[in-house]
Amino acid sequence: MGFLERSDAYWKFAGQCAQCGHCTKACDSLTEAGMTLGEIAKALIDHDREAKDADDLRMRIAMDGSLTQAVRGCFFCTSCKNTCFAHNDVCDLIYNARVDFQNLGLIPRQDWSSVLVDEEWDIFKAYRAIHGIGYTDLTRHVETEDHEAETDFDVMFFPGCSLAAYGPELTREIFETFEELGVKATMLDSCCGSSLRSAGFFDRAEVLCDRNVEEIIQSGAKQLVCVCPGCANDMGKAVKRAGVEIETISLAKFLLAHGFEPKHPVPTGQLCISKSCQDRDGSYLADTCKLLGVDASVPTIFHGCCGAGGAVSAFQPDRQAQQADSKLSFASDGATVVTMCPTCTYTYAYRLMNAPRDITNKHYTELLFDSQFDWDMVFYQLNSMWYGEYGAWLAEVFA
Ligand code: SF4
Ligand code: SF4
Repeated sequence: MGFLERSDAYWKFAGQCAQCGHCTKACDSLTEAGMTLGEIAKALIDHDREAKDADDLRMRIAMDGSLTQAVRGCFFCTSCKNTCFAHNDVCDLIYNARVDFQNLGLIPRQDWSSVLVDEEWDIFKAYRAIHGIGYTDLTRHVETEDHEAETDFDVMFFPGCSLAAYGPELTREIFETFEELGVKATMLDSCCGSSLRSAGFFDRAEVLCDRNVEEIIQSGAKQLVCVCPGCANDMGKAVKRAGVEIETISLAKFLLAHGFEPKHPVPTGQLCISKSCQDRDGSYLADTCKLLGVDASVPTIFHGCCGAGGAVSAFQPDRQAQQADSKLSFASDGATVVTMCPTCTYTYAYRLMNAPRDITNKHYTELLFDSQFDWDMVFYQLNSMWYGEYGAWLAEVFA
């Protein structure tokens, strides 16, 4: 008997891989590891077979630098999948491998201690608590000091962690728009659990999404409107698991359907639309372009991960910067880069703070609404909270 909880996934993957090598050529991390995706599955099976016990297995995998590179260096961007004739599911393989890495203690605690978004404190909740950012007045399906709980909502608005934490004015302005468009909405400022998945806590991420769906059911909302394609993917799967009639759509699609007019003109000059790697079928890209009045077929749209995916930054910090540079390299000087996922916007802002360029970095909602992210302030506040009166507490909570 083996020691890997997810070995069935590796056997399945190994059986579907023809070892053609196309995925390796499509990926810097796989190239560095010198492995195909199928070889990841095979290596895990081989180590499991040869190990005497779980400790021996941990040592064998820890000593296998190529396997560790391939598993922990994955952005979940799916660029490799697009080159695979069998369309083998890289995300399924790597998510399962991360679960086994986590079970074996192969992912250091400091790489994930601040992003356990199903616990009392994570970096987003800490940032919001320290800087007084809250939405109890908008979470109308829950009884708060401000109001009684209501139940007959049309829409549940799901801004996602990054927007709710780092763009409170923008979050509020978007929320107000639902009422302006004649739709009764409430808000769920929870998380889709993406960081839990990346850290190898796949089941916990699913439980978190299932809890979110329970809350949506109780609110009576029949539509879930997500700002980020990644949130929509994970929450959409949870809605399906629950077997309920709740439509999960992007904010762009919702605004298009309700005749929303941008609050100010879309900037002139080159708009470089950055497709989110979570937008697997391109539908978010299409709706966002339509809303912005951009021709989706113009060659100013670029694909791939911004560098934030898969928590690679915790494993190889330089690769996040390299990936962001590589994606931003498609934008010429003076252009506006437009992202769909607020975490991409955050990642580019962070990179441009460290390596300034003559480009403007905007989330698509900033082109539609008056409120804007203030990244200088966000990064100042994120940094300063580790040194101010909460520094010792943060260090203890996220130790
Ligand atoms: S999903 Fe992206 S980072 Fe992961 S193995 Fe495939 S190409 Fe590489
Ligand atoms: S591209 Fe697909 S079939 Fe080819 S080696 Fe990679 S996973 Fe296997």
